[in-house]
Amino acid sequence: MTRTDAGSGTPAGGRRGRPRSPGTHRCDRCRQSTKKIVARWPDGAICYPCYSAATRTHGTCPGCSAHRMLPGRDAAGAAVCVDCAGIALDLHCHRCGHEEERYRAMLCARCALREDLLAMLRPTDAQDPRHGLVEALSSAARPQSVLTWMRGRQAAALLQALGTGEVELSHDGLDLLPPGRPVEHLRRWRCTTDSWPNEIRTLPDSSGGSAPPSAAATGNSATHP
Ligand SMILES: [Zn+2]
Ligand SMILES: [Zn+2]
Ligand SMILES: [Zn+2]
Repeated sequence: MTRTDAGSGTPAGGRRGRPRSPGTHRCDRCRQSTKKIVARWPDGAICYPCYSAATRTHGTCPGCSAHRMLPGRDAAGAAVCVDCAGIALDLHCHRCGHEEERYRAMLCARCALREDLLAMLRPTDAQDPRHGLVEALSSAARPQSVLTWMRGRQAAALLQALGTGEVELSHDGLDLLPPGRPVEHLRRWRCTTDSWPNEIRTLPDSSGGSAPPSAAATGNSATHP
């Protein structure tokens, strides 16, 4: 495994602060009542927060010494891998092969992000700066954060405009857009991402002379507060 903890930033085994709604079931790990049991593993019924924490826990399994996801519990309560815990579940991403929390069916968050970015940005080939943007964004330390960002209306409109070519992926292209958080995010990523390809940094003034891609590129801008 090259990525040992894709969920860095989210403490493995940590609990989210989200309030729970009481339910009629009881989770055998956290002992709290829950509306839904999402898994029944050898150590008992598992609620969603416990399931999510379990699939974000990576480390060296005390049972077999493998370094991998440790969602199970051994008799002493230590976190162990699915094989040592007797959990009949394969959580390897069907695309990249990493054992990760699933973001959508069969895919980890990073692969889901890459899939969504490719669909929106539609790079034509490896020379296309949008290809570089896909690579840069999908190598973010926390792909979940980028996925959340993309769900925003303005961010989605911006990515869509870059995908159709209405907005050029360059300083000048971004300058023509109404200032806003999505644009600033792109700039910040550009400045902080080592993997940002040179062709983006050195893009000529491709917008010169032509009519501005216009605010229509972020057609929703008029509606933002
Ligand atoms: Zn629980
Ligand atoms: Zn093990
Ligand atoms: Zn994957």
